[in-house]
Amino acid sequence: MADFRGFLTTRGRELPARRPVDVRIKDWHEVYEEQAEAELRRQAGRCMDCGIPFCHSGCPLGNLIPEWNDLAWRGHWHDAIERLHATNNFPEFTGRLCPAPCETACVLGINQPAVTIKQVEVRTIEEAFGRGDVPPQIPDRLTGKTVAVVGSGPAGLAAAQQLTRAGHTVAVYERADRPGGLLRYGIPEFKMEKRIVDRRIQQMQAEGTRFRCGVDVGTEITGGELRDRYDAVVLATGSTVPRDLPVPGRQLDGVVQAMDFLPPANRVALGEEVAEHVTALDKDVIIIGGGDTGADCLGTAIRQGARSVTSLEIMPRPGAERPEGQPWPTYPTIFRVASAHEEGGERLYSVSTTEIIGDEEGRVSGLRVQEVTLGASGPEPVPGTERVLPAQLVLLAMGFLGPESEGLVDQLGLDLDERSGLERDGDYMSSVPGVFVAGDAGRGQSLIVWAIAEGRSAASAVDAWLLGEVRLPRAIDPTDRPTGL
Ligand SMILES: Cc1cc2nc3c(=O)[nH]c(=O)nc-3n(C[C@H](O)[C@H](O)[C@H](O)COP(=O)(O)OP(=O)(O)OC[C@H]3O[C@@H](n4cnc5c(N)ncnc54)[C@H](O)[C@@H]3O)c2cc1C
Ligand code: SF4
Repeated sequence: MADFRGFLTTRGRELPARRPVDVRIKDWHEVYEEQAEAELRRQAGRCMDCGIPFCHSGCPLGNLIPEWNDLAWRGHWHDAIERLHATNNFPEFTGRLCPAPCETACVLGINQPAVTIKQVEVRTIEEAFGRGDVPPQIPDRLTGKTVAVVGSGPAGLAAAQQLTRAGHTVAVYERADRPGGLLRYGIPEFKMEKRIVDRRIQQMQAEGTRFRCGVDVGTEITGGELRDRYDAVVLATGSTVPRDLPVPGRQLDGVVQAMDFLPPANRVALGEEVAEHVTALDKDVIIIGGGDTGADCLGTAIRQGARSVTSLEIMPRPGAERPEGQPWPTYPTIFRVASAHEEGGERLYSVSTTEIIGDEEGRVSGLRVQEVTLGASGPEPVPGTERVLPAQLVLLAMGFLGPESEGLVDQLGLDLDERSGLERDGDYMSSVPGVFVAGDAGRGQSLIVWAIAEGRSAASAVDAWLLGEVRLPRAIDPTDRPTGL
């Protein structure tokens, strides 16, 4: 185990510093500074290697956390990355972006701040890349089987890497010009720089995975053609249909879905020429919705030079402590401060939008809102609390309803489940034999860690279906649901 007195001698939980706000909002680089190696290893030494490591069950990938905490504490970085890669294809994504349900399940967290698991994870993979310890894993022999993966987000990438390493010939189809899914054009540079995605794609290409970008499957190639060409198909197309706000004034100019705002903003931040794009410069911005997407809009709007940013959330502000009904080791609903929240803006809770107001030219000029309380049947308006907030840009970040149902889904005749996801059985197979589903397309809007877990598991199911034996590890079943996430 890691330092057997570590949790007693290193009392405090220390994370790396975030760069000063007034510096970081002037650029798009990542927010965290590097933690001194000695401090990071001391922090890893707080892990108690519990008899029953609840952090394992908190992590959808089943990461072997106490094992690599121990190896990191000892400075055995090569062995640490071996143990980490055993269950997680892309620790550099989760180590930066995961909300770390492992940490809310950490046993030390019962009466002390939890071990900095996510930080040890990202440092372990960065040490490995820095030491040239992430070589391509080229399969010894090919199976002669071919697989098409549609979608190059974390689910598609994980499925493709597992299947390529298992000896199948894998092509990833992606309609965007570059691979990565939401990692590429949804999540801003200040949360994860795109060179991190490129570095992993290079490893995958060297292993033999082929990427066909700029190909919209369902238009440029039909679902039927894909099935004819490949022995199996994995759909990892994400959950892309955004929830809308059906109030008067929704049609006004300047009312924009978050995913129509963030991708062009990311491209501009990367120095690309984007013909027409919405910018927050010198505007009063209102973001409706308080999740990850809302926080990403906030950090982006601040960096673009917004005059003011207000985030609206219809639910009440969560408390600072775990609610009674969400005891350890569940992932609780508590008040969280993302790096973007430190950078500015106001957060309003228990507020509902009743109307979007416009000027004579059809542009948004404000939002009529009112306070709500949570009644038995949902939010109920509080009479006399109506007011108008000024806004020249309104960003809708209220989540996603599921995958697109026209095009590919129609062509293949796939069934949807009761939550509008692509239906699949316990082996990730859709209603059409040989067509598998992984990630948000089946699960609904979720997290990167679940997408990787599903991609790995679907790959195991595809491999077994193609060869008639189970050879690859499986992280989760499609019906597994997080506790509190
Ligand atoms: C703005 C934003 C911020 C987020 N931040 C976080 C975070 O900080 N941490 C976290 O854990 N999760 C976060 N999430 C959620 C996370 O990004 C998703 O759960 C995850 O990316 C889902 O992975 P996926 O592979 O299933 O789908 P996606 O990442 O959505 O990838 C699907 C890919 O399929 C492609 N595609 C779709 N249809 C076709 C087609 N017909 N032909 C070809 N290609 C197609 C799409 O272009 C896309 O590239 C965030 C989500 C958003 C929107
Ligand atoms: S992937 Fe997420 S839950 Fe799993 S160990 Fe890393 S930070 Fe924790």
